[in-house]
Amino acid sequence: MLRLNPNVAELPPYNAGMNIAVARNRTGLTDIAALASNENPHGCSPDVATALAQLDPSRYADPACTALRNALGKKLDIATSRIVVGNGSEEMIAAVCRAVLRPFSTVMTVSPGFGLHEIEARANGAKVVKVSMTEDLKFDIEALIDALRKKPSIFFLSSPSNPVGPALDRDGLSRLIAATPRETLLVLDEAYFEFCDAKTPDGLQLLSGSGISHVVLRTFSKAYGLAGLRVGYATASDERLAQAISSAKTPFNVNAAAQLAAVAALGDEGWMRHSVAKVTAERDRMAHKVHSLRLFAPESQTNFLFIDAGCDSATAFDHFLSHGIIVKPWKEPGFETFIRVTIGLPIDNDRFLDALRLLKAKHPEARTA
Ligand SMILES: *Cc1c(COP(=O)(O)O)cnc(C)c1O
Repeated sequence: MLRLNPNVAELPPYNAGMNIAVARNRTGLTDIAALASNENPHGCSPDVATALAQLDPSRYADPACTALRNALGKKLDIATSRIVVGNGSEEMIAAVCRAVLRPFSTVMTVSPGFGLHEIEARANGAKVVKVSMTEDLKFDIEALIDALRKKPSIFFLSSPSNPVGPALDRDGLSRLIAATPRETLLVLDEAYFEFCDAKTPDGLQLLSGSGISHVVLRTFSKAYGLAGLRVGYATASDERLAQAISSAKTPFNVNAAAQLAAVAALGDEGWMRHSVAKVTAERDRMAHKVHSLRLFAPESQTNFLFIDAGCDSATAFDHFLSHGIIVKPWKEPGFETFIRVTIGLPIDNDRFLDALRLLKAKHPEARTA
């Protein structure tokens, strides 16, 4: 019998949000509110469609993503030689693991956390150590500093946290940076950076000049509304690291449409900021409503809320689906009563809140604080 690589064959499946077509099929409803995958409900900048009219599908895309890296280098004020573009930032998570990990390496991350930080580490033969958040779902800085003493090869840190929502403040992030050993690569996943309030530090700025090896990950999938085209990027602390990450990906990883679209989206920051402002206003309204139902949902700096539904998350998922709403049921041990809901258009958010009220009436024993 064929022997498979057990590191890969025994991986848990990625917990992806249900697809709209599948939900239509299952429910018989046509009007589905897709609130599971943290996409931008306002779509993307109209400049993207204009740019895509230039697409020539017969030509290979630029493997170096030159135009996009130049635009990013200018915006972020860093050398383009430190930037690697990926087929979504998820590809950069995989490439970083491939570039750094060896059999029996250790990867540290936070629980609850983003599935791929664990999956890609395990696929590359690493052992994964997870540091829990505090009881009230804040980053446990002391515990993280303690775990860093063991010098993991990589520390994957999503701030703002997916799925929980809070971002590290300047003091917390500075302390973690100071505690990161020279042997460790700090990977700061800032997929939701654009949704943060003004007091949240810019990880790229805090890390520059820190002297530690680091990668900051950002994406066009969330605030820029390009999830379907797959484009994200890594900025590395130095050129040697960027080169290794680049060598770990496939050469034509970012297709031509994605490159054109990302350059156009980046050129229309005004559109992005405007749509993010609408989403964060809705997020704060939703959080207020959820709290007035006396349900527990930690503070969020993202475009989603993590809510203790007070019943099994699979039951909650089915309840929302029967109302035409897709949410993401959480499955990590200790969090099986939580759902993650994306902030959508106001009409979809109201629909969610109505269904949440009904769920709460059925399960009045839900955690309140
Ligand atoms: C969405 C997300 C990503 C991946 O985004 P891509 O679509 O692959 O760019 C990475 N990290 C976190 C924490 C995310 O939530």
